[in-house]
Amino acid sequence: MTTRLYYHDSFLYDFDAEVHEVTDSPRPALILDRTAFYPTSGGQVSDTGWIIPSVDADSKLRVTEVADSQHGRVVHYLEAPPKNLQPGTRVRGLIDPTRRRDHMQQHSGQHVLSAAFVRLFNMPTVSFHMGGDYCSIDLETPSLTQDQIEAAERLANEIILENRPVDTRYVTREEAGKLGLRKLPPAERDELRLIDIRDFDLTACGGTHVSQTGQIGCIFLRKSEKVRQGWRVEFVAGQRAVTTARRDYSTLTDTAALFSSHVYDVPQQARKSLDEIRSLRKQREQSQEELAAAQAASLLAETPEANGRKLVVRVFADRDLNFIKLLAQKLTRQHPAVVALLATKSPQPSLVFAQFVGGPQDMGALMKETMAKLGGRGGGSKDMAQGGASKAEELDATLEELARQLSPLK
Ligand SMILES: [Zn+2]
Repeated sequence: MTTRLYYHDSFLYDFDAEVHEVTDSPRPALILDRTAFYPTSGGQVSDTGWIIPSVDADSKLRVTEVADSQHGRVVHYLEAPPKNLQPGTRVRGLIDPTRRRDHMQQHSGQHVLSAAFVRLFNMPTVSFHMGGDYCSIDLETPSLTQDQIEAAERLANEIILENRPVDTRYVTREEAGKLGLRKLPPAERDELRLIDIRDFDLTACGGTHVSQTGQIGCIFLRKSEKVRQGWRVEFVAGQRAVTTARRDYSTLTDTAALFSSHVYDVPQQARKSLDEIRSLRKQREQSQEELAAAQAASLLAETPEANGRKLVVRVFADRDLNFIKLLAQKLTRQHPAVVALLATKSPQPSLVFAQFVGGPQDMGALMKETMAKLGGRGGGSKDMAQGGASKAEELDATLEELARQLSPLK
């Protein structure tokens, strides 16, 4: 069993220990007799840091992850296998202090926040997740309003500002039962470690915590969403809250600059722009309709009729697929017996074949054949088909050839 130094001192970043075991499979790892490294558990992710053998002070072993193992042992996973390290060697362990402080701020922040939700709205926390960017708690509640979120955030920050002591103590399960804990863990062991935020929260927990609530710094609630068992609330505490607020502000400032507006006017400006886009899109659709109708009329006027039928062939330099589809529709509506072979070279080489309803061709089959030659994909119904080619060069020649094939049928 590894002696866990972090249970008694969360601020112990530097410790001495003895190597108990060196393993290489499945990956390089060390087991020590005692450790201040926190292993991933109870929602809190592990510490990282360094282990330095006393015999070779120059070789710093990077600890990338720490985990609980069987029989109460703590495994320190290393970035690379250690050279000539034997059991019994004395080592010095160094915890990454920035990461540990961050974890203490998030975890103690979570206790304060969870207690705030219980005190204000009787909403218990059913799970806690600590991520790289943000943390979250799941609350057991059928509903959660923005006002409730803001009230819990306010109370949590008041408790932080009051700088209340955070004490760790040990009690028996029986004693714990009488103390009215916010959360009592499943009955695994007789002795329980309690985290006591003076006159505010008492809960069983094995994590690393600040010694005064003021060290949490601040707590900032972000996204909330409905999850299966209740509501999930994302939050950031301490330096993370400042980093997140800084990133939010930069994003908002960049956005405001695009609108040449004050940051607080961004929603109003964005709404105005969206309304303009919607209205312009509508106008554009209408113009496209009118343009397609006029273009269809002019194409029909310049195309000679043979046996009461017209064959319209046209390759555009820069119309989009939607426009040539629209044009094909207008052509077949404006003339009772038209066959149209249309294409556009850019932005994307595309083709549309269409004929009047009940015409003699099979446009879908014709498109498939054409695409097999051009090296693209396409198809459609008997009267209307579309395709996309990879190259624009052969479009003119291909449509001319097709027109020659179809001419006798006119
Ligand atoms: Zn905890």
